[in-house]
Amino acid sequence: MNNEKLLLAKAWDNRIGCAIAIDVLKQLQGEDHPNEVYGVGTVQEEVGLRGARTSAHAIKPDIGFGVDVGIAGDMPGVSDKDAAAKLGDGPQVILYDASMISHKGVRDFVVNTAEENDIPFQYDSMAGGGTDSGAIHLTANGVPSLSITVPTRYIHSHAAMLHRDDYEHAVKLIVEVIKKLDADTVENITFN
Ligand SMILES: [Zn+2]
Repeated sequence: MNNEKLLLAKAWDNRIGCAIAIDVLKQLQGEDHPNEVYGVGTVQEEVGLRGARTSAHAIKPDIGFGVDVGIAGDMPGVSDKDAAAKLGDGPQVILYDASMISHKGVRDFVVNTAEENDIPFQYDSMAGGGTDSGAIHLTANGVPSLSITVPTRYIHSHAAMLHRDDYEHAVKLIVEVIKKLDADTVENITFN
């Protein structure tokens, strides 16, 4: 676009999630951390979080992050009560959607990590719709999970638009979170 930070393309939902997963894995290569990290491109999210259900069953993660597009509200005809997020103000930390209420321990850990590293973020919620976290968090005995999303205009159209900085900040945030995680930290997050 005229503003080179604004990227317009079809199917950002959810190619941007795949890009985040790939970039997180690339940036963690060579970093010292004790975790096994899986990036999954799931199928059939839109029709019932189905691929997330089977892949989370296969992996049995200790902790999970759904990466997806979120709704951007900074456009004509949409009020702040309808959608609060603005392009360029940072990835969204989802408090709740129709598929889950986010895990408070994971949320606090992610927010603290963002603040420590000066990574911008925005809180958001969606009474309708969900993300793969909705299936991940119900796996086995339960998986502490959180959705981190990139605010996007016109999702589910052929011309969706997002801000490059929000995408890069989402990657950085998840990388910093994973670098801080280990078995004890996950235990603390899960049971405290
Ligand atoms: Zn969608």
